[in-house]
Amino acid sequence: MKPFDKEMLGALLPGNSTTELKQFTVPEPGHGEVLIRMKASTICGSDIRCIYHEHLGKGPEGYQPGMIAGHEPCGQIVKTGPGCRRFSKGNRVIVYHISGCGVCNDCRRGYMISCTSEKYRRAYGWQRNGGMADYLLAEEKDLVHLPDELSYVDGAQVACGFGTVYEGLEKIGVSGNDAVLITGLGPVGLATAALCRKLGANKIIGIDVIKERLDLARSLGLCDEVLASGADNVAEVRALTGGNGVERAVDCSAHPAARATAIRATRKWGRIVFLGEGGKVEFNPSGDMIHDQKTLYGSWVTSIWRMEEIVERLVRWNLHPADLVTHRFPLAKVADAYTLMASGRCGKVAVCFDEELTVSAR
Ligand SMILES: [Zn+2]
Ligand SMILES: [Zn+2]
Repeated sequence: MKPFDKEMLGALLPGNSTTELKQFTVPEPGHGEVLIRMKASTICGSDIRCIYHEHLGKGPEGYQPGMIAGHEPCGQIVKTGPGCRRFSKGNRVIVYHISGCGVCNDCRRGYMISCTSEKYRRAYGWQRNGGMADYLLAEEKDLVHLPDELSYVDGAQVACGFGTVYEGLEKIGVSGNDAVLITGLGPVGLATAALCRKLGANKIIGIDVIKERLDLARSLGLCDEVLASGADNVAEVRALTGGNGVERAVDCSAHPAARATAIRATRKWGRIVFLGEGGKVEFNPSGDMIHDQKTLYGSWVTSIWRMEEIVERLVRWNLHPADLVTHRFPLAKVADAYTLMASGRCGKVAVCFDEELTVSAR
């Protein structure tokens, strides 16, 4: 373990597609809190969409200027405050990225993402300091144990990406009965394909506009078929599924045309889930949904118990989210990490520390 420091660096996102590295005092854990040595902190699409270019978010997506960014943190506990009940120094942990009040109905269901307490709900990397720093102060109740079979970079992606996808897939149900369409093959779309594969999906079809993403989905063996997005996508998907369309569709793009494709390329009695955030969609409720008896779900992040469940499944399936990471950067080069992620010409981008920085591939 790294010798204990008094000062640390943390990355801020001032807007205007910039990053700023600033010196902070290493925080002292209070009651029920732990200090975590960061090992991996991955960049999320929502960091780019709501913070990096400009501060667009409101309410739960409102970034407080001056906060250390990064809501996909994973690391090792170096110090615990008084009153901790389960975790101790040396434990490897993932942080559920929203700290909730703990006593509202949403928190009691484990969905701190939608905690209704304006006073106590604080997301790491948004309204309280996040993982783009040498150390992170977290509440013990927000921690999920990281098993030895998974690396810290695996764990960082459970926090937001894989957890969010697993929740959406559990809502629509995916099995060997199903052909699945994924619109949008960014990190969330690739995670969807990886999980659908393990859940036994019969055929996985991916659509994206960016060639690098289509190539990555194919080269990693995650999609059986990839299509460049275009006006003929619905007909193309039907042609790949015996003229019927897919049983399940997952939108990870938030693009209006892609969302409409996800709905229209789904067959009768099929189920669709929207994971991609923002934007709009237009479709004909009768022709596209009602008469075909389809169900459309919305799904926002996940609960902390389901996050524990996906961690267990990743070990069972020998599935390593780190395989989706195409680029690793040290904290000193955090600016390059965000620039690359904003370009979309990559898989997942991770800021890494210590042993995770020297690993080029698992
Ligand atoms: Zn995220
Ligand atoms: Zn709450």
